[in-house]
Amino acid sequence: MNNTYYGKLIFELSKEGRQGYSLPKNELGDYCMENLPANLMRGKAPALPQVDELTVVRHYTNMSNNNFGVDTGFYPLGSCTMKYNPKINEEMAAHHAFTCLHPLQDIDTVQGALEVYYSLQQTLAELAGLKEFTLNPFAGAHGELTGLMVMRSYHLSRHDEQRTKVIVPDSAHGTNPASAAVCGLDVVVVKSRPDGTVDVDDLRPLLDDTVAGMMMTNPNTLGIFEHNIAEIAKLVHDAGGLMYYDGANLNPMLGVCRPGDLGFDIMHINLHKTFSTPHGGGGPGSGPVGVRQGLEQFLPNPRVIRHDEEDGHYYTIGESDNSLGYVSGFLGNFAVMMRAYTYLLTLGRENVKWVGPLATLNANYVKESLKDCYELPLTGVCKHEFVFDGLKDKSTGVTTLDVAKRLLDYGFHAPTIYFPLLFHEAMMIEPTENESKETLDSFIEVMRTIAREAHEQPDMVKSAPHNTPVRRLDDTKAALDQIVTYRELNG
Ligand SMILES: *Cc1c(COP(=O)(O)O)cnc(C)c1O
Repeated sequence: MNNTYYGKLIFELSKEGRQGYSLPKNELGDYCMENLPANLMRGKAPALPQVDELTVVRHYTNMSNNNFGVDTGFYPLGSCTMKYNPKINEEMAAHHAFTCLHPLQDIDTVQGALEVYYSLQQTLAELAGLKEFTLNPFAGAHGELTGLMVMRSYHLSRHDEQRTKVIVPDSAHGTNPASAAVCGLDVVVVKSRPDGTVDVDDLRPLLDDTVAGMMMTNPNTLGIFEHNIAEIAKLVHDAGGLMYYDGANLNPMLGVCRPGDLGFDIMHINLHKTFSTPHGGGGPGSGPVGVRQGLEQFLPNPRVIRHDEEDGHYYTIGESDNSLGYVSGFLGNFAVMMRAYTYLLTLGRENVKWVGPLATLNANYVKESLKDCYELPLTGVCKHEFVFDGLKDKSTGVTTLDVAKRLLDYGFHAPTIYFPLLFHEAMMIEPTENESKETLDSFIEVMRTIAREAHEQPDMVKSAPHNTPVRRLDDTKAALDQIVTYRELNG
């Protein structure tokens, strides 16, 4: 891999006077230049790299080959649902009929886009067993904040101002307590039992007239279904609180059960996990928020309203006086909605029912095939994901981090590690419903090989990865000392 382009910065490839191609002369002459205010003009030309086109293409193609993505390999990152992003989604989202729209266009000319928004929110409402969704929030955590603002608005509308306490299980995703804090609410943690579910006895004394609500993930971040959910929902409701469902990863539920039927009042869904739209470095997200009947008025503005007419439907964009206000400019990330809607249409009513069962089957298959080599603290049937507590044989000192690094040598992305915090050597694996038995089998084989290597050649595993473009990095330095512009390099 040692060639001219490899591992170099584009600035290091720069040669004075070299150009990609020359542009035709501006037909408007100097019109633009003459009409730009002097204070907006550059004093001198920017210090951009001077490179030919072939160098640029090779540089970026080589860089992209250094990356790992769901299109290059298996990506079992627990709680992240790194599922495949079908290419037809991209085609639909890139259709010029949608990409050329402007949010301030006349309403008569955007009826199709509004129909997509409305139909998607209706479909989500049906899948979730709730009354209405807003698609405006831009991410899961943003959805949580929006949902908690709905919760707060509900209590304030009833003059229940003292309700500021939000109960969050100790197994919760970190964004749950963070969102509650950003919303100005007080976080109270409820403990888990040894089987990984919420301890109802620990919950009871926390319930009083200061409780705004409780946030839950079900199946929780350990992949365990909270079987006491009906009792928990009743306790919280009896205390006057609302139930919030973190549906970032709704996969295991699809086709099996609905949060609304389990007693939840408010929820968010990550389109960029559950509904196959890209995430992480792959693109923007979307965190729709749904509510049960009676809470719709508090959802954010603006909202899409359908009017039924004799010859079809007509859509307008409206507002509710009781709304919590705006959480986004316009109606959210429309291109993400296009992808999720396409995914739902390609699955259809029949196939969407297989998402939950297949996600569950895949996770249990991997878990059962590896539990003799890796420590499984919570036995029994999991849902879409599960947690190992490191290697079963820890005598050679090989840690979860070492196993994760060694996986990279074999071309697999690592699982989520050291989360949830309940186990020291946590390794959280989520295969998703998309993966074939062959892929799962090769992952299982590699995980078993690493367990053997950890016993036979521990130093080799501890110094992994060996085959990647870069070796072990200083994660802390990488996070704290980021170089994100070329200027810093140029001094
Ligand atoms: C990913 C995730 C979130 C947060 O979603 P973002 O889009 O990253 O903000 C919240 N809860 C759970 C359980 C998650 O897995």
